[in-house]
Amino acid sequence: MKKAYLTTPIYYSSGKPHLGHAYTTILADVVAKYKKAIGYDIFFTTGMDEHGQKIFDVAKKLKKNVKEMLDDNAKIFQNLWKKLGINYNFFTRTTSQDHKKTVQKIFSQLYKKKYIYKGVWTSYYCPNCEENYTETQAIKKKGKLFCKLGHELVFKNEPSFFLKTSQFQKWIEKYFHDHNSFIYPSFRAKELINNFLNEGLKDLSISRKTLCWGVPIKEDNNHVIYVWFDALLNYLTNLGYGTKKNQNFTKYWNDGRSEIIHFMSKEISRFHCIYWPIMLKMLNLRLPNKIIIHGWIINNNEKMSKSKGNVIDPWQYINRFGSDALRYFLVKESNFENDFNFTDKFFWDVYNHDLANNYGNVLTRIAGMIKKYCHNVVPSLTKKKLDNDDKEILIVRKEILKKYKNLINNYKIKELLDEIQKSYLLLNKYIDETKPWVLFKDGKLDKLFNFLNIIFNFNCDLIILLSPILQQTTKKISQILNLVLDFKLLNKDHAKLKINSCPPIFNRK
Ligand SMILES: [Zn+2]
Repeated sequence: MKKAYLTTPIYYSSGKPHLGHAYTTILADVVAKYKKAIGYDIFFTTGMDEHGQKIFDVAKKLKKNVKEMLDDNAKIFQNLWKKLGINYNFFTRTTSQDHKKTVQKIFSQLYKKKYIYKGVWTSYYCPNCEENYTETQAIKKKGKLFCKLGHELVFKNEPSFFLKTSQFQKWIEKYFHDHNSFIYPSFRAKELINNFLNEGLKDLSISRKTLCWGVPIKEDNNHVIYVWFDALLNYLTNLGYGTKKNQNFTKYWNDGRSEIIHFMSKEISRFHCIYWPIMLKMLNLRLPNKIIIHGWIINNNEKMSKSKGNVIDPWQYINRFGSDALRYFLVKESNFENDFNFTDKFFWDVYNHDLANNYGNVLTRIAGMIKKYCHNVVPSLTKKKLDNDDKEILIVRKEILKKYKNLINNYKIKELLDEIQKSYLLLNKYIDETKPWVLFKDGKLDKLFNFLNIIFNFNCDLIILLSPILQQTTKKISQILNLVLDFKLLNKDHAKLKINSCPPIFNRK
């Protein structure tokens, strides 16, 4: 059996989830569900990144106990995932004992191997992003230095532990060069080379002295481990790496046949594409197969941020349109090359056009005709009476069934949705042009039954193909149509199936 390990990043627990968190998580969940549907054994994880100065500061500002704040935030994220139908196999929390113990173990191991050493940290540092900048990487404005998100940088000069990343510069460059499909889309690799590798990879400071909220370093208890070093290791600790319960690690990581895929937004690609592979190389572990990076959701042409007050709350759309509509919208508009501009109107248009006017409308029309002309029983096909317009529909059906696996395997879910959408437009047209009400009136029942059989069967395939995205709706439809939502049942003839009356599925808004 094919298998895959899929991950979202772990989200920083300093506040509530926004639409960007939902975007990454839905994309990863949808790919996980499609892969499962075509026969993969899947291990899917998400979770919370719970260390770092910023978390400590936020809790202090809110006058909350840090642990209580983290527990509250983890629950808020989990509630959202539940509502959005995200099915993870494991939910990481980096403050858990198991995670912390393994992180300490790995730190000690790399210290012994001399991949970690003690030195002095001088750097321009963004306390907000917890990221280092050199003077040339920083953005200069009025004599001050800023990170790429616009936070002011502070100059650091203090003792620190370092990871010998500089030693692996040539290796990572060669890896990018030899593995074209490692980073998707591949132009991100060129960006990383230009922005971070060309001027020379420096050793990475991986400890903090001034801070108290982190994993303590056993080798020197005045220091805690830098949050990024700690957070990236979740991808191993999720699977029980470094503990006695490491069956999942053996199965989903160590076995070269398992596909490992990380999903994320572009601002964290530097750590995942450069430092994470180097850490794995130091640990003598295999690398992920693919790092999938998407652009940002922007709101009125600006990146969402708390300080700008333009953060979109996913609940706002879930409450008005339902979880399925939000899942559908974010996959349909997903963009790996560019950012995409989210507007309220855009959401309404996609909802009304795709979901209400096409999917919902075609289904209600078909079910209504089968009720009216065939007493709710799907008629059989009389092959010798097929006309050209019927044959044309069968060809389109065959084409999409030939294509879908390839699209899933290449992470082109958006393209699959485009194919499905085109099919629905065609089915609406097929109804309008065949005029089944005239066929019925004229007593041309052979032609009418052929038409109903063809359109019903095709629609069932489309419903099954949509089921990993429109989870709740297709489940409801499956009960109405007595249809089993299983990809093995694609391309089936549902003749003689008894269906129930179908109420409107997506109401126009
Ligand atoms: Zn910053």
